[in-house]
Parts: sequence; structure tokens; C-alpha cells
Amino acid sequence: MAAKLLKGAEVAKEIREQIKAEVDELKDKHGVTPGLVTILVGEDPASQSYVRAKNKTAKALGYNSTQDTQPVDLPEADLLALVEKYNNDPNCHGILVQLPLPKHINDKKVLNAISPDKDVDGFHPVNVGRLMVGEPLFLPCTPFGIQELLSRSGQPVEGAEVVVVGRSNIVGKPIAVMLMQKGPAANATVTVVHTRTKDVAFHTKRADIVIVAAGVPEYIKGDMIKEGAVIIDVGVNEVGKTADGKRILKGDVAFDECFEKAAAITPVPGGVGPMTITMLMKNTLQAAKFFAGVS
Ligand code: NAP
Repeated sequence: MAAKLLKGAEVAKEIREQIKAEVDELKDKHGVTPGLVTILVGEDPASQSYVRAKNKTAKALGYNSTQDTQPVDLPEADLLALVEKYNNDPNCHGILVQLPLPKHINDKKVLNAISPDKDVDGFHPVNVGRLMVGEPLFLPCTPFGIQELLSRSGQPVEGAEVVVVGRSNIVGKPIAVMLMQKGPAANATVTVVHTRTKDVAFHTKRADIVIVAAGVPEYIKGDMIKEGAVIIDVGVNEVGKTADGKRILKGDVAFDECFEKAAAITPVPGGVGPMTITMLMKNTLQAAKFFAGVS
């Protein structure tokens, strides 16, 4: 059996068309243009490319998009002051600080300094807490994208055995919480595995849906999943460069082996990645609507 490809890039395009229509309406009826600020500290090439992609998408949707790039040795206090400046800027509705930050900066301190109402990445403890109790304001973008992708491509989640590989604060933990909540595209039975799990394959082999966010290239092999499983590959791992210097990317799933066995699978690239950026746009639009008093 060959799997159905869950093309996040196509689903994301559909969602962006809906967002664009809402942005136009917000501008016409309320005179508000969504404003997104992305703060990048340093020159990490992967971070630069993520921030570029976010800005490009925001501009294409008609947002005011500002990329604020700061030197790698920016003192932590200056970064906190910059965040505060944007917290108080009425034209900025969403603030994103690109991770990872340089080692001398405490990333938790910086993320906690972002106003929860502008926290379009959904990383502030207030927003994490809201998610936990089932009253989310902003859902973290990658898990939000995964849930939308499952839902819009008709993959049943209710009652499914879901195994999440990885327990990071940005992917593993929040997707586990979201899929176990009561509600649409949720109500799943969720297991989370990590490096201290005794037998990862024992769990993944019995899962209806496997969500892999481990950061290990091609970690999940064909013999670690069951026939007919749905495989969501979050991993983006640079495994080399092409002759002309482009990054060669691999997911966390051995694609060819799992494609033969799965019912559905996300490609890398073109799967979860485009959904993540699109959910950032959705969150920023939501923040602008809150600002404009539009429900
Ligand atoms: P992370 O913070 O490094 O967390 C990785 C998690 O995987 C940890 O919980 C770790 O367990 C677990 N893990 C690592 N190796 C494992 C193994 N051999 N067996 C079982 N568990 C293992 O990573 P992340 O930020 O969640 O990102 C994961 C991947 O997704 C990366 O490739 C990243 O680039 C990618 N990503 C993609 C997007 C997107 O939009 N497409 C967004 C975010 C991240 P311990 O906790 O025990 O260490």
C-alpha cells in the first residue's frame, strides 16, 4: 500500500486565501492592518531563512511586517527593552522572537517578557496555561498546523491512539495536550515518548497516528510503524549542502520505508513547515482583531 501524501503546502495555501480575505475586510471595515514584528538576534543561516519566509508570507498577505535584526552580541537587557518597545507599539499586534537565541541570553526571560496578547507564537506561560485548561488564546504554531492538517485532510483523530515522539515545549508537549482535549480534531488517547522511554518502537508500532518531533534524521523506520498508520513528520534536519550551497533537508521519518506502509504521511519539505508559518499568520490576524475589538 502506498500512502496518501498530506501536502501541507496545498492546505496552507487554502488557509492563506481565507486569511487574505479576512485581512482585506479588517482593513476596509476597521482601518486596521495586522502588524507582525520578527526579532532575529545574530546571523544563524537557518534562523535567517525561517524569518525571511515568515516576512515574505506576511507581506504577501498584506500585513505590516517588520524584521528587526540585531547583532549576535546584543545584551539581554537591550533585547528585553526592544520587546517592551514593541509591546507598547499600537501598530504591532504580534511579536515573534526567533529561537534559538545566543547562549548569553536567557530565552525563557525574553519569551516571558512578550505581552501575552501579542504572543503569536503561543510560548508565553499564560498562553501555555490557557491551552492546558482548554481556553486557548494563541495556539503554538506548529501543533496548531499539525491539528489543522489532520482535520482538513480528513484524518480521524477522535478515539485514535496517538504517539508523539519528543516532549519539547514548542512541539511535543503542546500537540499532546491539544489532541487529548475535548473538542473537534482531538479526543485522542495520547502517549508521549522521549529519550528515556524504554522501548520507543513498542509504542509507535501500535499507534494510529505517529507525530515525530525528535530532531533526528530518519529516526522512525518502516518497521517502527503499523500498516495503515498516519505519519506526521515535524523534523527538519540539515544533512548537508548541495554543490550550489543550498541546505539538504531530511525529516525525522525514513520517508520511503514509511510511505509503503502508512495510510498517509507528510513530506519534508512541504508538509508541516508551511502549515507552521500559516498558523503564525492566523494568530497575528487574531491578535489584530482583538486589538480592533472584532470577535
Ligand atoms: P527538541 O527541543 O530538540 O526536542 C526533541 C525531543 O525529541 C526531545 O524531547 C527529545 O527527548 C526527543 N528525542 C530526541 N531523540 C530521541 C530519540 N532517539 N528517541 C526518542 N526521543 C528522542 O526539538 P523540537 O524543537 O521539538 O524540534 C524537533 C524537530 O522538529 C527538529 O528537527 C526541528 O527542526 C523540527 N521543527 C520543525 C518545525 C516545522 O515547522 N516544521 C517547527 C519546530 C521544530 P528528551 O526530552 O528526552 O531529550
